[in-house]
Amino acid sequence: MIPLEEAQAHVLSTCRVLDPADVALADARALVLAAEVVSPEAVPPFANTAMDGYAVRAVDTNGAGEAQPVRLRVVDELPAGRAPERAVGPGEAIRIMTGAPVPDGADAIVMVERTRVDGDTVLVQAEANHGDHVRAAGGDIAAGAVVFERGTALTPAHIGVLASIGVERAHVFRRPRVGVLSTGDELVERGPLQPGQIRDSNRPMLLALVAEAGCEPVDLGSARDDEALITSRITHAADTCDALLTSGGVSVGDYDYVKAVLEQLAKERAGSAFVWWQVAIKPAKPFAFGTLGAVPVFGLPGNPVSSHVSFELFARPALRTMMGRHDPFRPEVDAVAAAPMRRRPDGKLYLDRVRVWYEDGEYRCERSGAQASNVLSAMANANGLALLPDGEGVDTGEHLRVMLLS
Ligand code: AMP
Ligand code: MG
Repeated sequence: MIPLEEAQAHVLSTCRVLDPADVALADARALVLAAEVVSPEAVPPFANTAMDGYAVRAVDTNGAGEAQPVRLRVVDELPAGRAPERAVGPGEAIRIMTGAPVPDGADAIVMVERTRVDGDTVLVQAEANHGDHVRAAGGDIAAGAVVFERGTALTPAHIGVLASIGVERAHVFRRPRVGVLSTGDELVERGPLQPGQIRDSNRPMLLALVAEAGCEPVDLGSARDDEALITSRITHAADTCDALLTSGGVSVGDYDYVKAVLEQLAKERAGSAFVWWQVAIKPAKPFAFGTLGAVPVFGLPGNPVSSHVSFELFARPALRTMMGRHDPFRPEVDAVAAAPMRRRPDGKLYLDRVRVWYEDGEYRCERSGAQASNVLSAMANANGLALLPDGEGVDTGEHLRVMLLS
């Protein structure tokens, strides 16, 4: 068996960042900037009001209060989206709505709540100071400023900022197209189950994991345990995808063809490689990994929990690396066991499915269900993987590391 860190380091060392491309903002979420962004425009583009109220000259409101309001002549009205047509002179005010440009002459906004209308005048009931409720031009972003560094992973807020400065396409590392193929004679997609059949749960799950990781999922369907068929499916995938996930067929059963196929294809293709490992972890011990040319292929185990955990430990960090992310791994926290988590010593790191929550200043966790590698419901009920090093496990109150899955 090889240690988890060694297997992970090998996988990551083979993964290259994909080429940059210009991508429409609508398609840029979760992608990583391949170059810094310099703003061509100031945000806001002009000084504007943060409040509904009146644009005034602050000096005109000196001494104003609830008891002795100052009377100003209302000379215009400015909704958002309209350019001012006149300036505010001494003794004057302009009715103004949030987002409208501050007219010349005015240097402060009085909130509408501090005023009373009286015919074509307004009674100002509070003193305004220079700059009150005025959002300065360029107050958020100055024209010519570096807004985001290369390497920034785009969240919805980043996309909003890019839109605010008129950037329509982001220069990002391309989104990986990731194929997902299930293998197994027992798998059916829909309809009643015949004796010996089960439903294909890994493929929908892995497609969802791929999408959640920010990649483009490509559904390659399911292949029967047939060496020639699996060969043709994987060959096609390697020609059309940036990465490939298969599930099943990597153990030591008589019909486990995936690893044999990967090994053979790697021999035939220049620049390819293949490993088949027993990783010192539970679940997800068997792991086949190859590169067909530049395309990494993850031969994930068939048991659904193992498939999910193997994706988390190997495929997700690799895909994030291909996307140019510098933080490929899930965060880990120190947690306290809320119930005993016993295990037996066998040289492996256990990754137990747990519920983890924050309470009284610490993370706490407990198993989310049975820990067998076919019990996918416990994975669904988990929001963390507890890392139980080789040994007897932990008792209530003992500390352990937990990888946060959400
Ligand atoms: P294998 O790795 O092919 O030996 O499969 C190990 C176990 O996982 C067997 O019980 C399979 O029936 C099950 N399995 C394999 N592929 C899938 C799948 N796509 N969905 C659900 N279970 C699967
Ligand atoms: Mg199988």
